[in-house]
Amino acid sequence: MKTVTTADVRISGRRLQERRKRIWQRDPNCARCGRLTIHPHGYELDHRVPLHQGGEDTDENCQVLCNGTEGCHLAKTREDAKA
Ligand SMILES: [Zn+2]
Repeated sequence: MKTVTTADVRISGRRLQERRKRIWQRDPNCARCGRLTIHPHGYELDHRVPLHQGGEDTDENCQVLCNGTEGCHLAKTREDAKA
């Protein structure tokens, strides 16, 4: 007998962190500007094809983008919002 606790919720968070690291290890350079990003706080995981445009939530559809106020992730998020 198993009840759902907050610990179960945290597992999905940890899985997301593992996936983030896995994709970063595959290519730690920003997919747009080519800058080397730093794990774990120097990048955001981005969907190449946004989910709302039919993109799949898979490793293959994910890429690393540098973050921060001048970062590519923010720039792409703005472009996606305009599109
Ligand atoms: Zn970048």
